[in-house]
Amino acid sequence: MTGTVVLATHNAHKVAEVRAILAEAGLDPRCLVGAADLGVAPPVEDGLTSADNALIKARALVAATGLAAVADDSGLVVDVLGGAPGIFSARWCGHHGDDEANLRLLLDQLADVPDPHRTARFRCAAVLVTPDGAEVVEHGDLASTLTTAPRGANGFGYDPVLVPDGERRTCAELSATEKNARSHRGTAFRALAPAVVAVLSP
Ligand code: IMP
Repeated sequence: MTGTVVLATHNAHKVAEVRAILAEAGLDPRCLVGAADLGVAPPVEDGLTSADNALIKARALVAATGLAAVADDSGLVVDVLGGAPGIFSARWCGHHGDDEANLRLLLDQLADVPDPHRTARFRCAAVLVTPDGAEVVEHGDLASTLTTAPRGANGFGYDPVLVPDGERRTCAELSATEKNARSHRGTAFRALAPAVVAVLSP
């Protein structure tokens, strides 16, 4: 296997997670490097969907490095909120990256919503863009129900309030391995893996 694919994230944890998923598909993990390792700054994510934003990140990396790039973008889709917070998931409370405030606001908004209407999903778009302009987009969903109070200490973001379908525990009560085995990100990247392997094995 030859070549290098750049992953559009500055989060070392995410690089490790995606390396592990792609390794299952036979990809040599050393072929995948994080954008931060190459000193590439992240672009403004002003797309209208997760797929738009993932493509913005991957296209910017291809332009900056000349290498094939992989990117993802995720969000929480709440049915009774018409699909929100969606692309605003990381800044639902009004500022970026305050997981606790995001979660508190969401629970307050849904305080009067009964269990049958508390359906939601994590949704991930994972994309591959190559220097010749080819683009592959895959999605993964984790269908769930929202609790009325946070439970569990693992994970991040909205994990403490999502109970995946067929499960009694929240995502924050699952181990990382249990969550990754069925997560939106895992599903999207497993679907993308054959295209990444093909790019690296011309
Ligand atoms: P990102 O695109 O993966 O950075 O995700 C954007 C936002 O969506 C995060 O800041 C979280 O609020 C939410 N989110 C995405 N995936 C997850 C997850 O697996 N658990 C909890 N929250 C998530």
